[in-house]
Amino acid sequence: MDLIERFIRYVKVDTQSSPTSTTAPSTMKQLDLARLLVSDLKDLGVEDVVLTEQGIVYAFIEGNTDQSCPRVGLIAHMDTSPDMSGTNVKPRLISHYDGGTIVLNSDLNITMDPKDFPSLAGVVGHDLIVTDGTTLLGADDKAGVAEIMDAISEIMRHPEWKHGPISIAFTPDEEVGRGTENFDVNFFKADYAYTVDGGEVNSVDYENFNAASAKVCVHGLSIHPGSAKHKMKNSLLLAMEFQQLLPVFDNPAVTEGYEGFNHLTTMSGDCEKTEMNYIIRNHDREQLNKQKADFENARDFMNRKYCAGTIDLTIEDAYKNMRSYIEDRMTIVEQAKEAIAQCGLTPVSTAIRGGTDGASLTYMGLPCPNLGTGGRQCHGKFEYASVQEMRQMSQILQYLMQKAAED
Ligand SMILES: [Zn+2]
Repeated sequence: MDLIERFIRYVKVDTQSSPTSTTAPSTMKQLDLARLLVSDLKDLGVEDVVLTEQGIVYAFIEGNTDQSCPRVGLIAHMDTSPDMSGTNVKPRLISHYDGGTIVLNSDLNITMDPKDFPSLAGVVGHDLIVTDGTTLLGADDKAGVAEIMDAISEIMRHPEWKHGPISIAFTPDEEVGRGTENFDVNFFKADYAYTVDGGEVNSVDYENFNAASAKVCVHGLSIHPGSAKHKMKNSLLLAMEFQQLLPVFDNPAVTEGYEGFNHLTTMSGDCEKTEMNYIIRNHDREQLNKQKADFENARDFMNRKYCAGTIDLTIEDAYKNMRSYIEDRMTIVEQAKEAIAQCGLTPVSTAIRGGTDGASLTYMGLPCPNLGTGGRQCHGKFEYASVQEMRQMSQILQYLMQKAAED
């Protein structure tokens, strides 16, 4: 089966995950794609395939060379974002994109103008797969899934290509932050792995944010405003004062690259009590600690000014930057760069302004940089994928699987 045929088949399966569900997987419909992948893998001749109760597909392929070489892993996620419907996806192929405005849906007057979407300038002349404007496409991350499947299909069709042992995993619930919750690193057996999940096909990314969250609880005192003099403490006003004590420019709206931020995600309350939730991000661990200290200093100042117990602050660490771990094993990154260069592309590494499942896996003992997919503008109706780039990615993965046997 051709890569694109495969991709279109997978995006038509609704696999939207749910942030409010507590089951694993978060939505049972993700198992529809999991089962399809199990059967497709078996059709390719991969015998050792496991679907766990929590919806993870693991597959294992043994090496075909006598030399002992490391086991390489490839990972992609099956779910799509809760931000936009993934029901009844109707992918459409645009051959040889001419650089103009793309009409996604003439009835609903939904168009994609290169003026609003500058990434389109980079894919003029490519064949593109787009949506009908009513759903997301699901290239995030079914492009990754289809590319891995296509690469496996080529490896299986060419027993003369020498490769080491390979582990494959397709995971649920990445989009709701639970992609590695039930991932069994020991069972997976790989010495190192790559997530194939978004970004340019020439990218190999191994830096991400260090992440923490802060919950700020402001305790006020509510009393009838007519008789409030010297008694009322309005927690809403105190909350605003707390925010003003934080550095003005540590804000996502004015940061990029390696600049960290504090982002106020929710704020709710009344005179008696207000709660604020922040996420705190920085690539640099020490800088992140300084940002945390800013929160503690603001709390201490407010508690001295208004009385102890006015501000309760809870700071929790979330995920960490994988860079320091990967740096000890840069051959993993170098091999990916070589495979990308073998495809005639110039490899690049950029610092991800977010987290990845690979970062969590790295801290679970499986070093795991991220590779691109050729999908763009994910999580919405303007998502699209370049056919040429998807084919390049499959090729890169085929080279990568053979790299381990070269050294
Ligand atoms: Zn993704």
